[in-house]
Amino acid sequence: MRNQLADLLIDKGIADERVLQAIRAVPRHLFMDSSFEGHAYQDKAFPIAAEQTISQPYTVAFQTELLQLKPNQKILEIGTGSGYQTAILLHLKTKVFTIERQQELFKKTSLFFKKMHYRPKKIVFGDGYKGLPSEAPFDGILVTAGAPEVPKALLGQLKVGGRLVIPVGSREQIMTLFIRKSEKEFEKEELGNFRFVPLLENKN
Ligand code: SAH
Repeated sequence: MRNQLADLLIDKGIADERVLQAIRAVPRHLFMDSSFEGHAYQDKAFPIAAEQTISQPYTVAFQTELLQLKPNQKILEIGTGSGYQTAILLHLKTKVFTIERQQELFKKTSLFFKKMHYRPKKIVFGDGYKGLPSEAPFDGILVTAGAPEVPKALLGQLKVGGRLVIPVGSREQIMTLFIRKSEKEFEKEELGNFRFVPLLENKN
């Protein structure tokens, strides 16, 4: 079923063979509630805990492809959620730092990673708007929730040459890629419409 899903993603335009290999390898059904397990290899988002969703496989593949990852790079993921995207990043042999603001998901997914021997460098319970200054700079930052605006902190935590992939917008989002060209310059590219759960800012 995973091979079929990868073939579908090829039809939809995903071309990076390493990303496709990760889709073929990571058992998405284990990241989902048992009631939805049977649908795990459809190209759809599904509910997880705390009114959040596991992203659609196409979206995961699309965002991952945009990061152009190389082994050993340091990656920051905002929105751990089910951990599926995290596992894809780990499969690509990157060092992953991931932040989740819903305590229920943070706890559940932290335990699940232990059980499955997935080893992100750090799983942080906190507000991704602020990024993770203690571990910056990053080669890549991936935001998996819809951001009404681009958090300035995230741009500042990119290495020169690093990439930020972020869906920007409120009700609908435009997938946006920022590449840091120098200390002060960023190149920006917009890559189509998506729909995510909102990136929420902690009001404290
Ligand atoms: N990568 C996840 C996607 C989960 S949906 C997966 O594949 O399952 C987006 C996640 O972002 C949700 O779990 C939500 O709680 C989280 N989120 C929203 N705002 C956040 C913030 N400010 N900081 C960290 N996580 C946030």
